[in-house]
Amino acid sequence: MAHKVALIRGDGVGPELVGAVETVFKAANVNIDWVEVEAGLKCVEAGKPIVPEETIAQIKELGIGLKAPMTTPIGKGSVSPNVTLRKKLDLYACVRPVYSLPGVKTPFDGLDIVIFRENTEDLYAQIEYMATPTVAHSVKLISEFGCERIIRAAFEYARKNGRKKVVGVHKANIMKIGDGLFLKTFNRIKEEYPEIEAWDNIVDNQCMQLVTRWKIYDVLVMPNLYGDIVSDLAAGMMGGLGVAPGANYGTKCALFEAVHGSAPKYTGMNKVNPMALLLSGTLMLEHLGENEAKANIEGALRATLEKGIKTYDLGGDATTSGFAEAIASELK
Ligand code: NAD
Repeated sequence: MAHKVALIRGDGVGPELVGAVETVFKAANVNIDWVEVEAGLKCVEAGKPIVPEETIAQIKELGIGLKAPMTTPIGKGSVSPNVTLRKKLDLYACVRPVYSLPGVKTPFDGLDIVIFRENTEDLYAQIEYMATPTVAHSVKLISEFGCERIIRAAFEYARKNGRKKVVGVHKANIMKIGDGLFLKTFNRIKEEYPEIEAWDNIVDNQCMQLVTRWKIYDVLVMPNLYGDIVSDLAAGMMGGLGVAPGANYGTKCALFEAVHGSAPKYTGMNKVNPMALLLSGTLMLEHLGENEAKANIEGALRATLEKGIKTYDLGGDATTSGFAEAIASELK
């Protein structure tokens, strides 16, 4: 039976990227029945919330979705559709693997790290107000419950996937209470996984070490804001935003999306790299247990890159759709 999966086509370059994923999935005979759900700027233009309640309900019911990037409208009171989805679906674990790809030249050969970013708390709780007419107050919300579930998710992932090391990333030397709670929870939970080497790093030191000693790192786990920044840094190490995939997991739902945004200046140009969304799609296939299809698509993608077929961001001249067709022609 086909897997029913919610699909958000997104804003900006989103629909072009979804088109590329559809081309490859169709050629790979992937057994998916896409259920299109609405969200994004089109909803706002129609006077609806940017993520309508019906969309939340549909994704909850299906339990799984693929989402192209969406634009956050600028202006007072505008909410991020991405943050809204993560919160309303309680997608607490943002998982971003970064690894070296054939034909994608970077100074970071042998890169193979998985970043676990807490997705619902921290400064992203969006609790902020003007304390006086000239002083803003943004609240950093950290709970033991929130720390425990993301840290446990990282250790469980390491155990299940034969990963040997988990590092907790924080700034508890300065934020002794909030990040202190994250660190205390990390130190408690690591005791339950004696086979995994675990230590902690301060986030600024972690950034420096990522670019100087990337080979010693395996799984990293951190609160929301550090995760946002460190995973973009790591996406750059992998080859840029055009190649970095991501997944968001909750207790009942999983939503797969590229790390990058809607790149509005490239809308309609058939130019951007569909790899990040395609690799997010293969993470989704793994979640669905479609491991053969995942391996087939990733193999075809590697073969395409090895032939030197690339989009502009990797120094090539392939179009979004042309790159997808090249991958499709490499499928077994
Ligand atoms: P962005 O990631 O959209 O683009 C930044 C730059 O990265 C682009 O100008 C482009 O040079 C490059 N880039 C991004 N995707 C690429 C791809 N697939 N191939 C090649 N190059 C690519 O970030 P931004 O410009 O800061 O944000 C644009 C909009 O996207 C904003 O409204 C922002 O809120 C939103 N956003 C959404 C998500 C999401 O949906 N998860 C994530 C980040 C930003």
